[in-house]
Amino acid sequence: MNRRLKPGILRSTILCAGLLLGAASPGAGAVENWFEEFKAGADDRDLYRFLYALPKGGDLHNHMTGSNFSEWWYQLATDRQLNGGYQYYTRVRIGNCAGYGRDMFGQTPYLMYFHNLQASSYRALSDCEKGEYKKIGALDAEEKAAWLDSLRLDKKHEGREEFFQTHWQRLADLGQNPYINAEMLVRNMQAFAREGVRYIETMGGTRFYKKPDGSAFEADAVADIFRDRLAEPDARETGVTLRMQYFLLRFIDSAERDLEWIYRFVDRHRDLYVGINMVGREDNDKGYPLRFLPTLRKLRRDIPGIPLAIHAGEVDEPNHHVRDTLLLGASRIGHGVNLISDPDTMLLMRNGDYLVEINLISNLLLDYVDDYGEHPFPEYLRTGIPVALSTDDRGMWDSNMTDEYFVAVKEFNLSWEELISLGRNSLQHSFVDSETKAALLGDYEARLRRFEQRFRRRGMAGLSDVVPHSHGFTCEHYGLCEFSATAVASN
Ligand SMILES: [Zn+2]
Repeated sequence: MNRRLKPGILRSTILCAGLLLGAASPGAGAVENWFEEFKAGADDRDLYRFLYALPKGGDLHNHMTGSNFSEWWYQLATDRQLNGGYQYYTRVRIGNCAGYGRDMFGQTPYLMYFHNLQASSYRALSDCEKGEYKKIGALDAEEKAAWLDSLRLDKKHEGREEFFQTHWQRLADLGQNPYINAEMLVRNMQAFAREGVRYIETMGGTRFYKKPDGSAFEADAVADIFRDRLAEPDARETGVTLRMQYFLLRFIDSAERDLEWIYRFVDRHRDLYVGINMVGREDNDKGYPLRFLPTLRKLRRDIPGIPLAIHAGEVDEPNHHVRDTLLLGASRIGHGVNLISDPDTMLLMRNGDYLVEINLISNLLLDYVDDYGEHPFPEYLRTGIPVALSTDDRGMWDSNMTDEYFVAVKEFNLSWEELISLGRNSLQHSFVDSETKAALLGDYEARLRRFEQRFRRRGMAGLSDVVPHSHGFTCEHYGLCEFSATAVASN
């Protein structure tokens, strides 16, 4: 069960707020009376509309392929004008054919529906296996609905295993088309722009991409495809700045060699790539943080520094992964859920320069917390550990950044100062160059001032032109379906 804001608690908060505010302007620890009054009187629809319109900063923890909605995948998989001329097939039946089991990590299980292949891979199949697949554009209505659902965590029984062991493997060739990924970057920029996000630092690579004939792209050519698409007018018109982090899959045998290659690649592409991340489930001990310390120390001997933001503490048991990850040189920690069980590292991070990228929806759906009463976010926020909200794989959660803010306010009763600190932190701790960062921060503060003035003058009437565009998460978990595109489409 999720805890909800209780009116009684809010009323007493308002009384305290009145005492606190006095004649002084609000600072740390103070609360803005107008915002407390708004929360006390707002229903979920008002709160969502307010938070959708609220200016936000950046999304620092965002996986390029996990951020794409199923409907976008379908459209790009079936539109050869948009996808670079590729034809795609998906598995709609299991024919008990001999084991085809190849993907970029060599881990695709055979018994998997909706495994996606491009035509060159399809042509290499046996006749028996070909009989299992169908062109994605030829799926009937029922198959299409199931295909769309196959790329999101939308069932009660789906959690960590479904996400880590099937979603990525199922995408297969679809995730290895650079034109689709470039197009998706722009769709993400457009969607995030609508909800007030102005910076995205997405995790994506440039290797293992396939041409229509199945041959490999050069990594530099893929980076150029991304650059060219980001320079087009529709991308620039979003007003969103996008940079990338290169991700290292941490638990595989070649991870040290991969890290060396990635480090040198990022060094040569610093206009697009601003950092390196390490991904992959942390309960696979082969990817433990200190494994990479010798390699990083070697690389740092002769290559100017590259910022690191690394997944750590996204795990159930207590351990020192966050501390060890700071030792690797990370200045941002992805998730940090189990940091709460490491007091020395918490003390190290209080009022410091290390930020924890908080992913509230991800942590719930992947069962790192059973309910939000267990989440350490409010403890970090309110003891001075820098935090920002981020979306992780929002395409697979069927959610957006506003949903993260909605959960944060509903479950943890954020004050105005706390709320706006999240966006500010996200920009201050971004890896973008200092000139762009200063411009993003100035823009954020100016947009916030205008938003606050408008709202305090006109209240919800000032937001009547705001049309939130949400997805399935808040409908499913909070019964707020009015703005949910997925819910509307399925009605
Ligand atoms: Zn992540």
